[in-house]
Amino acid sequence: MSEPYDVIVIGAGPAGYAAAIRAAQLGLNVACIDSSLGKDGEPVLGGTCLNWGCIPSKALLDASHKYADARDHFADVGIKTSGLEMDVPKMIARKDEVVAKLTSGIQSLFSGNGVTPLSGTGQLLKPGLVSFTDHQGQVSELKAKHVILAPGSVAVEIPPTPLVENVVVDATGALNLQAAPERLAVIGAGVIGLELGSVWARLGSQVVVLEALKDFLPMVDQRIARDAQRLLKSQGLDIRLGTLVTGSSVGNGKVSIAYQDADGDQTLDADVLIVAVGRRPNTAAALAADCGIAVDDRGFIEVDDHCQTGSAGVYAIGDAVRGPMLAHKGTEEGVMVAERIAGFKPEVNYACIPNVIYTHPEIAWVGQTEQELKAASIEYKTGSFPFAASGRALAANDSDGMVKILADAETDRILGVHVLGPQASELVAQAVIAMEFGASAEDLGLTMFAHPTLSEAMHEAALSVAGHAIHMVNKKQR
Ligand code: NAD
Repeated sequence: MSEPYDVIVIGAGPAGYAAAIRAAQLGLNVACIDSSLGKDGEPVLGGTCLNWGCIPSKALLDASHKYADARDHFADVGIKTSGLEMDVPKMIARKDEVVAKLTSGIQSLFSGNGVTPLSGTGQLLKPGLVSFTDHQGQVSELKAKHVILAPGSVAVEIPPTPLVENVVVDATGALNLQAAPERLAVIGAGVIGLELGSVWARLGSQVVVLEALKDFLPMVDQRIARDAQRLLKSQGLDIRLGTLVTGSSVGNGKVSIAYQDADGDQTLDADVLIVAVGRRPNTAAALAADCGIAVDDRGFIEVDDHCQTGSAGVYAIGDAVRGPMLAHKGTEEGVMVAERIAGFKPEVNYACIPNVIYTHPEIAWVGQTEQELKAASIEYKTGSFPFAASGRALAANDSDGMVKILADAETDRILGVHVLGPQASELVAQAVIAMEFGASAEDLGLTMFAHPTLSEAMHEAALSVAGHAIHMVNKKQR
């Protein structure tokens, strides 16, 4: 199919490719432009998430967890190992295979749904008109009734630590190290810093994480964050809060890092430094200077609740707009916009977005934290259940953490669910479903859960909101 298109999507990450596929499913004539090239120089779909983010990091998190579990915990369950070795190049190669399978899967989905992929750079010139530059530099102008901007985000670089190949790296570089560095420093105890710090700590690196903020994971329920910090410390992550990195110098393939903490100026030497200080919207190439689309002072494209920009027929979704930079949030926005273009009226429920940090144990949550409820003067009740009292978690030798539920003091409606524990990423989905249906803690408590499962911790935490969990002594009894 060719122009004029019904829809041109700029960006084929989880937000853009989902928008393109859904629009095509609804019978629209769709093209999706993406400039990404893979390691072999060929075009790749899937954006940061599939190529350099969520998926490759999970491949390494899973591989490194298996290795560390075999090394540190198999003996606990009666499995003797000898000659256990890690093969980092093989781990990296397998990660690349997983990525290749998934990105080629998007290609198949595009061709199966009739989406036209265009490999190169797309730029909105004005509503209805997009400039397309292919990798040979050939420029053409494409017309479309609707344009969806999904240009994603890029890693923030900071002046004190310019990137130096294989020594000072961003998340992408950290996913391609060919050996575990002896001494690894990470700037930023955010999601990426903790996930990548965990990978390399499990594979034997001494890891120091330098974090400017005084609080650990301020966006996480602070009870959960405290427990997570203690567990990560016990795994060898030396997390130094209140430390501001001010400079770095590279020599002989090593890096010396200057930072300030409460005691003054400090230095730290490392073999590799990972810079994980956040991401910023990637809008510069996607918007012509006079295209008329408003961008806020942090570079986010301004949109309303339905991802509509100020210009009719132009939408923006994913990391380039307000809200958390999460693949699944972008995907839902992409689907919403495609369906709205086709005449339907879906909404994204921004109050019900699950968050996951893939450390071990995982940290996952949905809804409000206890500190947010306090700040908003909302009266609430809490219930919690430790995995140490879960038969399934004990049987699996994986019983750190807890489920914590916050419910409205008067209505019992669930306001937030916070999980630190094995498979927290999967368990939190139960909470998301409950909250989407407006469930009360009692509703969850009245639901039957299979035994023995990790999910029972969710059930017991819900029962404990009313003070009658079965498998622990309750402080509050009815
Ligand atoms: P982040 O914002 O989560 O954390 C960056 C941290 O770096 C902050 O805590 C900040 O205080 C600290 N920092 C900044 N400058 C510093 C300095 N000079 N010295 C010391 N500390 C400094 O950012 P991120 O971890 O890079 O992740 C980027 C985005 O990607 C986030 O929005 C995240 O949600 C998303 N992401 C999500 C997942 C997931 O869902 N599991 C995984 C990876 C990334």
